Amino acid sequence: MLEVLKYISKLRRCDDMKSSRVPGFYKKSIKERLDIVKDFAELSDEDIRVLTTNSSGVDMNIMDKLVENVVGCMPLPLGIATNFLINGKDYMIPMAIDETSVIAGASHGAKIIRESGGIIAIAPDSLMIGQIQVTDTSAPYAASIKILNKKEEIIKEGNKVDPVLVSLGGGLKDIETIILDTEIGKMIDVHLIIDVRDAMGANAINSIAEKIAPIIEEITDGKVCLKILSNLADKRLVKATVTIKKEIIGEEAVDGIVKAYQFANATPYRAATHNKGVMNGVSALALATGNDFRALEAGVHSYTARSGQYKPISIWEKDAEGNLAGSIEFPAVVGIIGGVSKLHPVARVALKILNVKSASELGTVFGALGLVQNYVILKELATVGIQKGHMSLHAKNIAMMAGASGELVDKIAEKMVKENCIRLDMAQKFLKEIS
Ligand code: NAD
Repeated sequence: MLEVLKYISKLRRCDDMKSSRVPGFYKKSIKERLDIVKDFAELSDEDIRVLTTNSSGVDMNIMDKLVENVVGCMPLPLGIATNFLINGKDYMIPMAIDETSVIAGASHGAKIIRESGGIIAIAPDSLMIGQIQVTDTSAPYAASIKILNKKEEIIKEGNKVDPVLVSLGGGLKDIETIILDTEIGKMIDVHLIIDVRDAMGANAINSIAEKIAPIIEEITDGKVCLKILSNLADKRLVKATVTIKKEIIGEEAVDGIVKAYQFANATPYRAATHNKGVMNGVSALALATGNDFRALEAGVHSYTARSGQYKPISIWEKDAEGNLAGSIEFPAVVGIIGGVSKLHPVARVALKILNVKSASELGTVFGALGLVQNYVILKELATVGIQKGHMSLHAKNIAMMAGASGELVDKIAEKMVKENCIRLDMAQKFLKEIS
């Protein structure tokens, strides 16, 4: 061990070693940070141009305020999924994603589904849960009742934190308690039920939880540890459903999709990939609208594993007429106010395209998109297989990887698809032949 430490300290003294220890990096300007990184990683002027070229024209000063240590932007394609009919209203859905076929798939699926009447989706009020962890109480059951006995008082105090939220009809609404049996003794899990209206709500909830914590500590005579929202927002569930006529997709597809669902329901190995298909849509819409996709993903996966086994987030059944009936349900931890949604200029435009009036309405779009995305991929898997549709679009990426640009991308991609051979070496061979 000593030898290792000596070796490390020797390395540190070595003059030509570059150090990632940069005091005050966060205080520097973007240009200064770039100079440091350029030197550290021996970047070329072209590398710097790539990092700093901002295709959407978003002011870098805004980017610099969103996170720390900014040196550039990581642009993702922003596409529009068309044909969505949700609760009788038409939507164009902006999606930020780097995977081919996803937006095309969503648009295609929505077109098929609108022929069967569209998507029905509901999202309740924006009730979220804030958790306060109480440890070291000698009598947790009694302490828990004491908390509930002071509910009105606590709610009154909690609602002093965010008068804007309260004026909009939101704020702390209820309190619940759960006793947890842990390896280090019993704990009280205090749930603050907070209506966050059109916000995702994390900051609002955390502020209320922190304000209330000392009161809880006093009532319980215990020790408050964590005070934070739960991403398992099971009081804020979006639910969506579609019925797809067997005459449109064929009986074979209906049966195949039902079998595919049963497969996912029986094994988490398949459920994980089933849900990945749903998240292709959900995460892309979250990114486009400046919503916290990590929060959403944590919510979806924890909700679907709530029985103790990881399950598919959507269900596919055959109805009495032999049509395909799909449904989905997950926590829609999304907002149209707060976080990045109002700060990022692209997110603002994306929300304008969506034309949603509330966080609940946005939640219905998330549910609808996730379900449609899931349908499309299951239809492919259960009939022709994923490669036919997916790889022909992927062929364009392979062509670009081989160095093709402009019209050559399509030409080489088409040639690879035609010869049923979508590989980098083939793309390179065709590129050589054509150019
Ligand atoms: P926020 O605090 O930026 O905005 C919400 C506030 O806006 C409300 O508290 C209210 O005062 C005001 N407001 C004005 N009009 C409103 C309306 N119509 N409806 C509701 N509120 C209105 O945002 P937030 O939603 O509280 O927090 C979201 C951010 O928190 C995201 O960026 C997320 O990444 C981050 N975050 C997430 C987690 C997590 O998921 N675990 C944890 C910490 C932070």
